[in-house]
Amino acid sequence: MDINEVVVKLRELLGPEKVLSEPEDIYVYGYDSSIVYKGYPWVIVRAYSTEDVVKVLKFADEHVIPVIPRGAGTSLTGGPIPINGGIILDLSGMKKIRVDVDDGIVEAEAGAIVDEVDKECRKYGFMFPIDPASAEVATIGGSLANDGGGMRGARYGTMRHVLLSVEVVLPGGKVLQLGSPVYKQALGYELAQLIAGSEGTLGIITKATFKIVPLPERVGRILAFFSDVEDAAKAIFTIRRRGLNPLILEFMDDITLQAVDSVYKLGLPQANAAVLADVDGPPEAIDRYINTFKGIFKEYNAFRIDVATDPDEMNRIYMARKGAYPALSRLYPVVIIGDVCVPLSKLPNIVKAIKDISKKYELPIAAVGHAGDGNLHTFTGLHSTSGDEWERGYKANDEIALVALELGGSVSAEHGIGMQKKYLLVKELKVRRSEYALELMKGIKKLFDPKGILNPGKLFD
Ligand SMILES: Cc1cc2nc3c(=O)[nH]c(=O)nc-3n(C[C@H](O)[C@H](O)[C@H](O)COP(=O)(O)OP(=O)(O)OC[C@H]3O[C@@H](n4cnc5c(N)ncnc54)[C@H](O)[C@@H]3O)c2cc1C
Repeated sequence: MDINEVVVKLRELLGPEKVLSEPEDIYVYGYDSSIVYKGYPWVIVRAYSTEDVVKVLKFADEHVIPVIPRGAGTSLTGGPIPINGGIILDLSGMKKIRVDVDDGIVEAEAGAIVDEVDKECRKYGFMFPIDPASAEVATIGGSLANDGGGMRGARYGTMRHVLLSVEVVLPGGKVLQLGSPVYKQALGYELAQLIAGSEGTLGIITKATFKIVPLPERVGRILAFFSDVEDAAKAIFTIRRRGLNPLILEFMDDITLQAVDSVYKLGLPQANAAVLADVDGPPEAIDRYINTFKGIFKEYNAFRIDVATDPDEMNRIYMARKGAYPALSRLYPVVIIGDVCVPLSKLPNIVKAIKDISKKYELPIAAVGHAGDGNLHTFTGLHSTSGDEWERGYKANDEIALVALELGGSVSAEHGIGMQKKYLLVKELKVRRSEYALELMKGIKKLFDPKGILNPGKLFD
């Protein structure tokens, strides 16, 4: 079947308004937010129901055509890139959200925006626990497929940790509900958990049910500035080591602070690092919690500590972290984004290593992230995707990943493997002497998707 026939047939099956094939559509759906990767889909289908997804997967399986699911395209690893053409299945039109406050759950369709899900929960005095920095645009389906995390990761983990059940459509069009919408279930092999982090390679997520958590009674926000990056990392470690459990605990280095300040004019001081923490609890306890955190920051030589409890000031301080990616992206046309995770006690080692590697390769490497759970993102700033600078950038990124492995950590925390980290996944499995795990993964892929039509070329070759 040639591309024109595929387009005609899909229009017959779904109606012409759901099928896009103009050059401008083909162009924009060829990118994700990494900007580094590029592909050319044959056609884009905008699904509005599970039935639409079933029709596409029956057709694609019969004719062995690749299907690449896509939410908002905020992936930073090339996850939704159509490497060898095929059908982009855009789920962003499936947006229904239903909160069941009695049962403490939210059910959301794949295309529901994470922030919208959170807002819906807030109407009932609850919140959606996972809050990626991309929450204003990222979808539930894409975030679950990547097993995304966010600012509240140290307390609530990633999407899989709040997942109860998921509806998926398999190649050929079979619809399954994996898991149950209850807080406990022991159903043998946990197939719903396999879907979390499967990056669109096993099935198309159409909806999912998650736990929700009560809104904090009150929140206090603290932003502390340090002259020494290792001091900032030690402060984060100490907070966790003393058994404190902040709502968020984030790290920013000097490059990040300068970038956000130049864009958002936050009035930040010259500092080599900063730590952002949210404490929550009953109103009468907030001042005590804030003082405990201030005490730890002072112990590690913080030279300025800003505290906010009113919403406007809290939002201003928050931009020092939330604005990191947009601000850093303005500085450089190309960034290579790292996503390592280390044991909490090794945070000072990894921040020092990142600074050393930045000097060694003579490249600006910003470090920022949800360090409260050991996760740091690096942004290596470049001017093009070729030549000596590009090669140095990739080597530097590799070296940071290898240091994370040596420290007992992981090369991939929450952005997924996509196209970017396939070889790093292999390296991590080698270090753990678990290469056979890759064979198991490939076996699982074959069971779900025997013809290999779902998001080919991602996770592994
Ligand atoms: C500014 C910025 C900040 C970010 N901050 C964070 C952060 O704090 N934490 C974090 O974890 N990530 C973060 N990310 C990365 C990204 O936002 C997440 O991976 C996000 O969850 C992806 O959602 P999406 O809807 O954009 O998915 P997409 O990018 O469209 O897709 C991601 C992957 O999921 C697959 N997929 C999409 N929808 C489905 C579906 N319905 N069924 C099966 N597979 C599907 C795709 O094929 C692809 O492999 C950030 C990105 C940006 C640009």
